[in-house]
Amino acid sequence: MLPVKQAEEIILGLVQPLHDGEDTENVDLSSALSRILAKPVTSQLDFPHWDNSAMDGYAVRFADIEFCDDQQPAILEIVAEISAGVKPQRSIQPGQAARIFTGAVMPLGADTVVMQEQTQQEGERVKILAAPEPQAYVRHQGAYYKAGTPLLPGGIPIKAPEIAVLAAAQCTQLAVYRRPRVAIISTGDELVTPEQPLQPGQIVDSNQYALAALVAQIGGTPIPMGIVPDRPEALLEAIAQAVASADMVLSSGGVSVGDYDYVESILAQLGAEIHIRAVQIKPGKPLTFATFSGSATSNQKPVLYFGLPGNPVSSLVTFWRFVQPAIKKLSGLAEGWEPMWVQALTSDNLLSDGKRETYLWGKLNLVEGVYEFLLAGGSQSSGNLINLAQTTGLAVLPVGKTSILTGEQVQVLAIS
Ligand code: AMP
Ligand code: MG
Repeated sequence: MLPVKQAEEIILGLVQPLHDGEDTENVDLSSALSRILAKPVTSQLDFPHWDNSAMDGYAVRFADIEFCDDQQPAILEIVAEISAGVKPQRSIQPGQAARIFTGAVMPLGADTVVMQEQTQQEGERVKILAAPEPQAYVRHQGAYYKAGTPLLPGGIPIKAPEIAVLAAAQCTQLAVYRRPRVAIISTGDELVTPEQPLQPGQIVDSNQYALAALVAQIGGTPIPMGIVPDRPEALLEAIAQAVASADMVLSSGGVSVGDYDYVESILAQLGAEIHIRAVQIKPGKPLTFATFSGSATSNQKPVLYFGLPGNPVSSLVTFWRFVQPAIKKLSGLAEGWEPMWVQALTSDNLLSDGKRETYLWGKLNLVEGVYEFLLAGGSQSSGNLINLAQTTGLAVLPVGKTSILTGEQVQVLAIS
């Protein structure tokens, strides 16, 4: 049984991220939200594009107003009015000023803006009652960004701020990483779909739905492969087909030591390299991790295989702990794919037998700047799917730790 940390290192060490050439596709800016930028973006535009005014006021030559105050105002001739979106038609000579509005282009000759509140207009003239700093309220061309330098790096998720930047830079087509393809197999003679009538002894295949939702939520494309009975030939065929059509395969069930648990022997038959057979984690001990040598679909990268435990809670917990960071790393994210840990104060007593690293589910709340963990009520059994609803955190008791009591610090894996 591998310690959790060691299992994580093995798994993440074997993930080869998508390639920033072969594994990309072009998308319109309007459908780029939450995709991952595959290549750095540069712009041929400076930001700001021109020197422009940050205020409503007057564009002036600083030398004309340097020594003015309300006792001895500078008096300038207003020779132009420049509103936003208009190109100035003339330059400002000594003794002159232009009425200017926020965002409007600075006229040649002027180097400073005096805000309206410090002026008094009198017909064709303006009195400047106070001098600002030289170059005040001028947003200079290229001050925020110089054309041709990196605007956005590759490997970042495209969220609203990036969309704003890309739109401003008129980047309407973007190279993003393709979505990782993740095949999902449910194994078990007892399983039926949610649509099928439930006979005595049968169980609904909730894992197929839960795993597909988890994959989609982090930007992958789930490929649901349905339910496969506990027959070696059927499993072999389904696994071979899944491996040929995806970057990663998730199966659930059939990885314990029961008579119908065939997954591991089939992986070996199909030539997979098995790296992990069991992990010192509760729930989720019978976790299998293997790699297949690359296929055309995976662009020759190894296909990653997770044999997740069948128990619904074990399946989700092992997904959050191991599969999610693996998919995120695979998807081309340059950073931020690691699990998110927070230190919280527990509001309940947390108990474990201390034999395995134990994950207890519940709610992670931020209360006045302090994280708080509330244990889900009811049974913390790996078969109890019901109280997993609304989970936002998994509290962890390390091996050897049998309790963390109310009010004490606990490490929590944040779930989004
Ligand atoms: P197994 O690992 O195949 O022995 O399954 C362990 C437990 O999880 C059994 O009670 C199964 O019925 C249940 N189980 C297995 N696969 C699923 C699934 N896809 N959805 C819901 N429960 C499952
Ligand atoms: Mg089974």
